[in-house]
Amino acid sequence: MTVILDGKSLANKIIENIKINTESLSKKPKLAVILVGDDSASQIYVKNKQKKAEYVGFDSIVIPLPSDVTEENILEHIYILNEDENINAILVQLPLPKGINQKKILEAIDPIKDVDGFTSYNFGRLALGYMPYAFPCTPKGIVKLLDAYNIEIESKNIIVIGRSNIVGKPLSLIFQQRNATVTMANSYTKNLKELTKNADIIVSAVGKPNFIDGSFVKQGAVVVDVGINRTEVGILGDVDFPSVYEKASFITPVPGGVGPMTIAELLENTYELFKIQRSLILQ
Ligand code: NAP
Repeated sequence: MTVILDGKSLANKIIENIKINTESLSKKPKLAVILVGDDSASQIYVKNKQKKAEYVGFDSIVIPLPSDVTEENILEHIYILNEDENINAILVQLPLPKGINQKKILEAIDPIKDVDGFTSYNFGRLALGYMPYAFPCTPKGIVKLLDAYNIEIESKNIIVIGRSNIVGKPLSLIFQQRNATVTMANSYTKNLKELTKNADIIVSAVGKPNFIDGSFVKQGAVVVDVGINRTEVGILGDVDFPSVYEKASFITPVPGGVGPMTIAELLENTYELFKIQRSLILQ
C-alpha cells in the first residue's frame, strides 16, 4: 500500500503549534518581505505567506517595489530592515527581475535575520555541518516530512534531481549530514533513469511536469515531488503521480506535499530567529 506523505496536515500541526507559542509572547515576531516586480505567481506566494504569518499572530510587512527598481534601492531597503530592531526576519521573494544581481541582494541580509538561510554565512555553516541561524525552508520541510513518517535516511541511497541553491544543494547537504549516500543530478547527468532506479529515495526539484514516471522508480522507493509547474490543466508537480504511485512506498502529492511544508518552515524560522535575537538582547 502506497502512503501519501500529507504535507498539508503536518504543516497545519506545525502552524498551530507556532500560533500557540506566539500567543504567550509579549512582543510578536515580525517578518518583512521584499517583493520586486509584478510576477503573478510571486504575488500569490507573498500574499499566502503574509496571511499565514498573520494567522499565527506575527506582525508582517510587505515592501512592494517596481520591476525597474535599482539594485541600490533594494539594498537600501535591506539595510533599513537589518537595522530595525522590530524586524526579526527578512525574505526577498525570488526570482528577482532580470538585471538585478540576486547574489548581491541576498548577501546584504543580516544573517541573523536571513529567514531563508540563503546568505553565504548561513549556507556555509550548513555546508560545514554547523548550526546556521536558519535552514532553507523547503529542504527543512522535506526532511521534517520524511521524519514524521519515520522514513529512514541514514545509509539510504538518495538521488536529488536539481541543484538549485534553494532546494537541491542544501537538501543534499542535510541528507549527507544524516548519513545518507547522496547522488545529485543536473541537466548534464547521463543515464538518469539508471541512477533513480537505484535510489531508495528520489527527490525531484526540476520544474518539468511529468518528468519522473513509474519507469524511473524502483519498487518500494520513496518519492518526493518538489516541482510546482503551472500548466493549462492547473498546477502539476514533476512526478507523473498515477504511474509512480503504483511503485512507490511513500509519495508526496502536488499540491499538499512539499509546498505547505515550505510555508510552515518559513514561519518556524521566523519564530526561531525572533527567539535567538531576544536571547541575545537579554544576555
Ligand atoms: P531551478 O533553479 O529551477 O533549477 C532546476 C534544476 O533542475 C537545475 O539544477 C537543472 O540543472 C535541473 N534539471 C533541469 N533539467 C534536468 C534534467 N533533464 N535532468 C536533471 N536535472 C535537470 O530549481 P528550483 O528553484 O529548485 O525549482 C525546481 C522546481 O521546484 C520548480 O518547479 C519550482 O517551482 C519548485 N519549487 C517548489 C518549492 C515548494 O515549496 N514546493 C520550493 C522551491 C521550488 P542545471 O543546474 O544543470 O541547469
